[in-house]
Amino acid sequence: MPREIEVKSVLNKTRKRDSWFLDDYTINMYSSCSFNCLYCYIRGSKYGENLEDSLSVKTNAIEILDRQLFNRAKKEQYGIIVLSSATDPYLQIEEKYQLTRQALEVIAKHKFPVHIITKSDLITRDYDLLHQINKTAILPSDLKPRLKNGVIVSFSFSTLDEAVASIFEKGATCPANRLKALNKTVKEGFLTGVSLMPLLPFISDTTESLHRFFSTFKESNVDYVLPATITLHGNEKADSKTLVMNAIRKHYSELESKYQGYFKNGFQMPAFYQKAFSKKMQELSEEYGLQNFIRSK
Ligand code: SF4
Repeated sequence: MPREIEVKSVLNKTRKRDSWFLDDYTINMYSSCSFNCLYCYIRGSKYGENLEDSLSVKTNAIEILDRQLFNRAKKEQYGIIVLSSATDPYLQIEEKYQLTRQALEVIAKHKFPVHIITKSDLITRDYDLLHQINKTAILPSDLKPRLKNGVIVSFSFSTLDEAVASIFEKGATCPANRLKALNKTVKEGFLTGVSLMPLLPFISDTTESLHRFFSTFKESNVDYVLPATITLHGNEKADSKTLVMNAIRKHYSELESKYQGYFKNGFQMPAFYQKAFSKKMQELSEEYGLQNFIRSK
């Protein structure tokens, strides 16, 4: 059972808008994340090895969000709200608590635009509210040349392979169902794309895997693909580096020495690898005609 907690603030103003995700604000209706991805960037001792054990529901979040958005709207400080930056907005418990749905109602009322980032198919439940936001949201003036409407939806994938997903992101909606939700969302007419974050070195960033990703998403007619390689942090038992290294040792022993070499003393793949990765992604974007930034077509 998740803990129920009260918070003082829900709406977080970002210091600088991220050029990929276009976030002016972020909100997280839940704390921690039952999708439990081993590579998750929020991992660490605060949440423990099983993120689901530290899951919390912010019971007063809607009332506070309403007040905070009212104050921002009064000053015309419109900006894109990212749901979510440190959890998934459509966790299993969202079916019961409906905090994301209620947050979207409040966001629609105050006419803010949103960027939903998810690994879940539960988003399909909220198309009604997303259509309302899409039509009525007030975009920040500097993004008007780039965006036609008020909703962006990014589905996150680190693999399309069910077996790989069951190791690295076993709490999330399986890739096949995520893909179905992605296809439905494209057909609804929302600005929809893919966050390929993180790709798993030598597992889901192989040439074969990358072509599978790009051909699949081309067929889905997505608006963009945002790829990134992995970063892994920490040497304690609840840290992402430890958990991913344990999984590599257990399921991909042939890759253990490569991962050890790259991550023993660092948190990211070496510069030469990242350079080759960027070049490859650029080539694939051009080959498949899929832009690697968010912009309305
Ligand atoms: S869905 Fe996102 S926030 Fe949740 S565990 Fe996975 S990477 Fe972390």
